[in-house]
Amino acid sequence: MPDRLMTGAALLLAAWPGGAQQRRPPERLENLTGKTLMLFTPHPDDDTFCCAGTLAQLARKQNKIYIVIYTNDDKGSYDPEMTSERLARIRMHEEEEACRIVGIPKENILWLQFHDGMLEYANSRDLVEQCTGLIRKYRPDVVLGPDPGGEYVRWHKTDHRMAAMNTIDAIRAAEWHLYFPNQRLHDHLEPWKVPMEFFYYAGKDANYFVNIDNEIELKLNASAAHVSQFDPSIRHYRADWDPKDLERVKATFRSRSKKDGHYVEGFRSARGFNPQ
Ligand SMILES: [Zn+2]
Repeated sequence: MPDRLMTGAALLLAAWPGGAQQRRPPERLENLTGKTLMLFTPHPDDDTFCCAGTLAQLARKQNKIYIVIYTNDDKGSYDPEMTSERLARIRMHEEEEACRIVGIPKENILWLQFHDGMLEYANSRDLVEQCTGLIRKYRPDVVLGPDPGGEYVRWHKTDHRMAAMNTIDAIRAAEWHLYFPNQRLHDHLEPWKVPMEFFYYAGKDANYFVNIDNEIELKLNASAAHVSQFDPSIRHYRADWDPKDLERVKATFRSRSKKDGHYVEGFRSARGFNPQ
């Protein structure tokens, strides 16, 4: 007698030739080659801080990586002489340099250009439509985004909240042709079901770790490219590092990145929006 807990679809899958193959464990993210990945990031640096080591491995393996940046980060400075316009330009150059270090060309950075701290107040329907369109256009094998939470909504700071929920909503909408049908009719964008999702900033819910022992120095250098976001540049802008300050920041990063004696980046791996 079949297990009453198995759904009809699960029974069919188990009986189908190749069913066992369908149930094989998912491929390791960092081992992918020749795929397309799309990472959604609230600010031009979360992608670096969360994932630079993993992205560097993927870039080396001929994967095409797109970085979608929701905001232009034009508010994060205590320097009284700084303006939003100037800061946005600085942040763009810093992000391009960080991506260059990781191995991602600046042509693959897609700026949505919302103002820093204002993503929550964007028109949410337009925002999800915009990101749905990007997913349908680039048809990524993997999407990475801030973790919206497993069973409960995760607390995030401003922009991160909206980025987390909007990204997962766009992933969902992208596969159903009746969401935003104008994209199919006018832009010839077909529905796309994202096969793999990895959520960063997952905290203690992280269930998937990528070893970045070989990339830690690269990650520190990419992170240091965001010089305007660290003391003392965040208080009085300067484009370069005092070597002493740089070593202090790198030491902090090093101390926070270890698990079981190895440098790692943690994610929550999910498929069909359920934790694995
Ligand atoms: Zn951020």
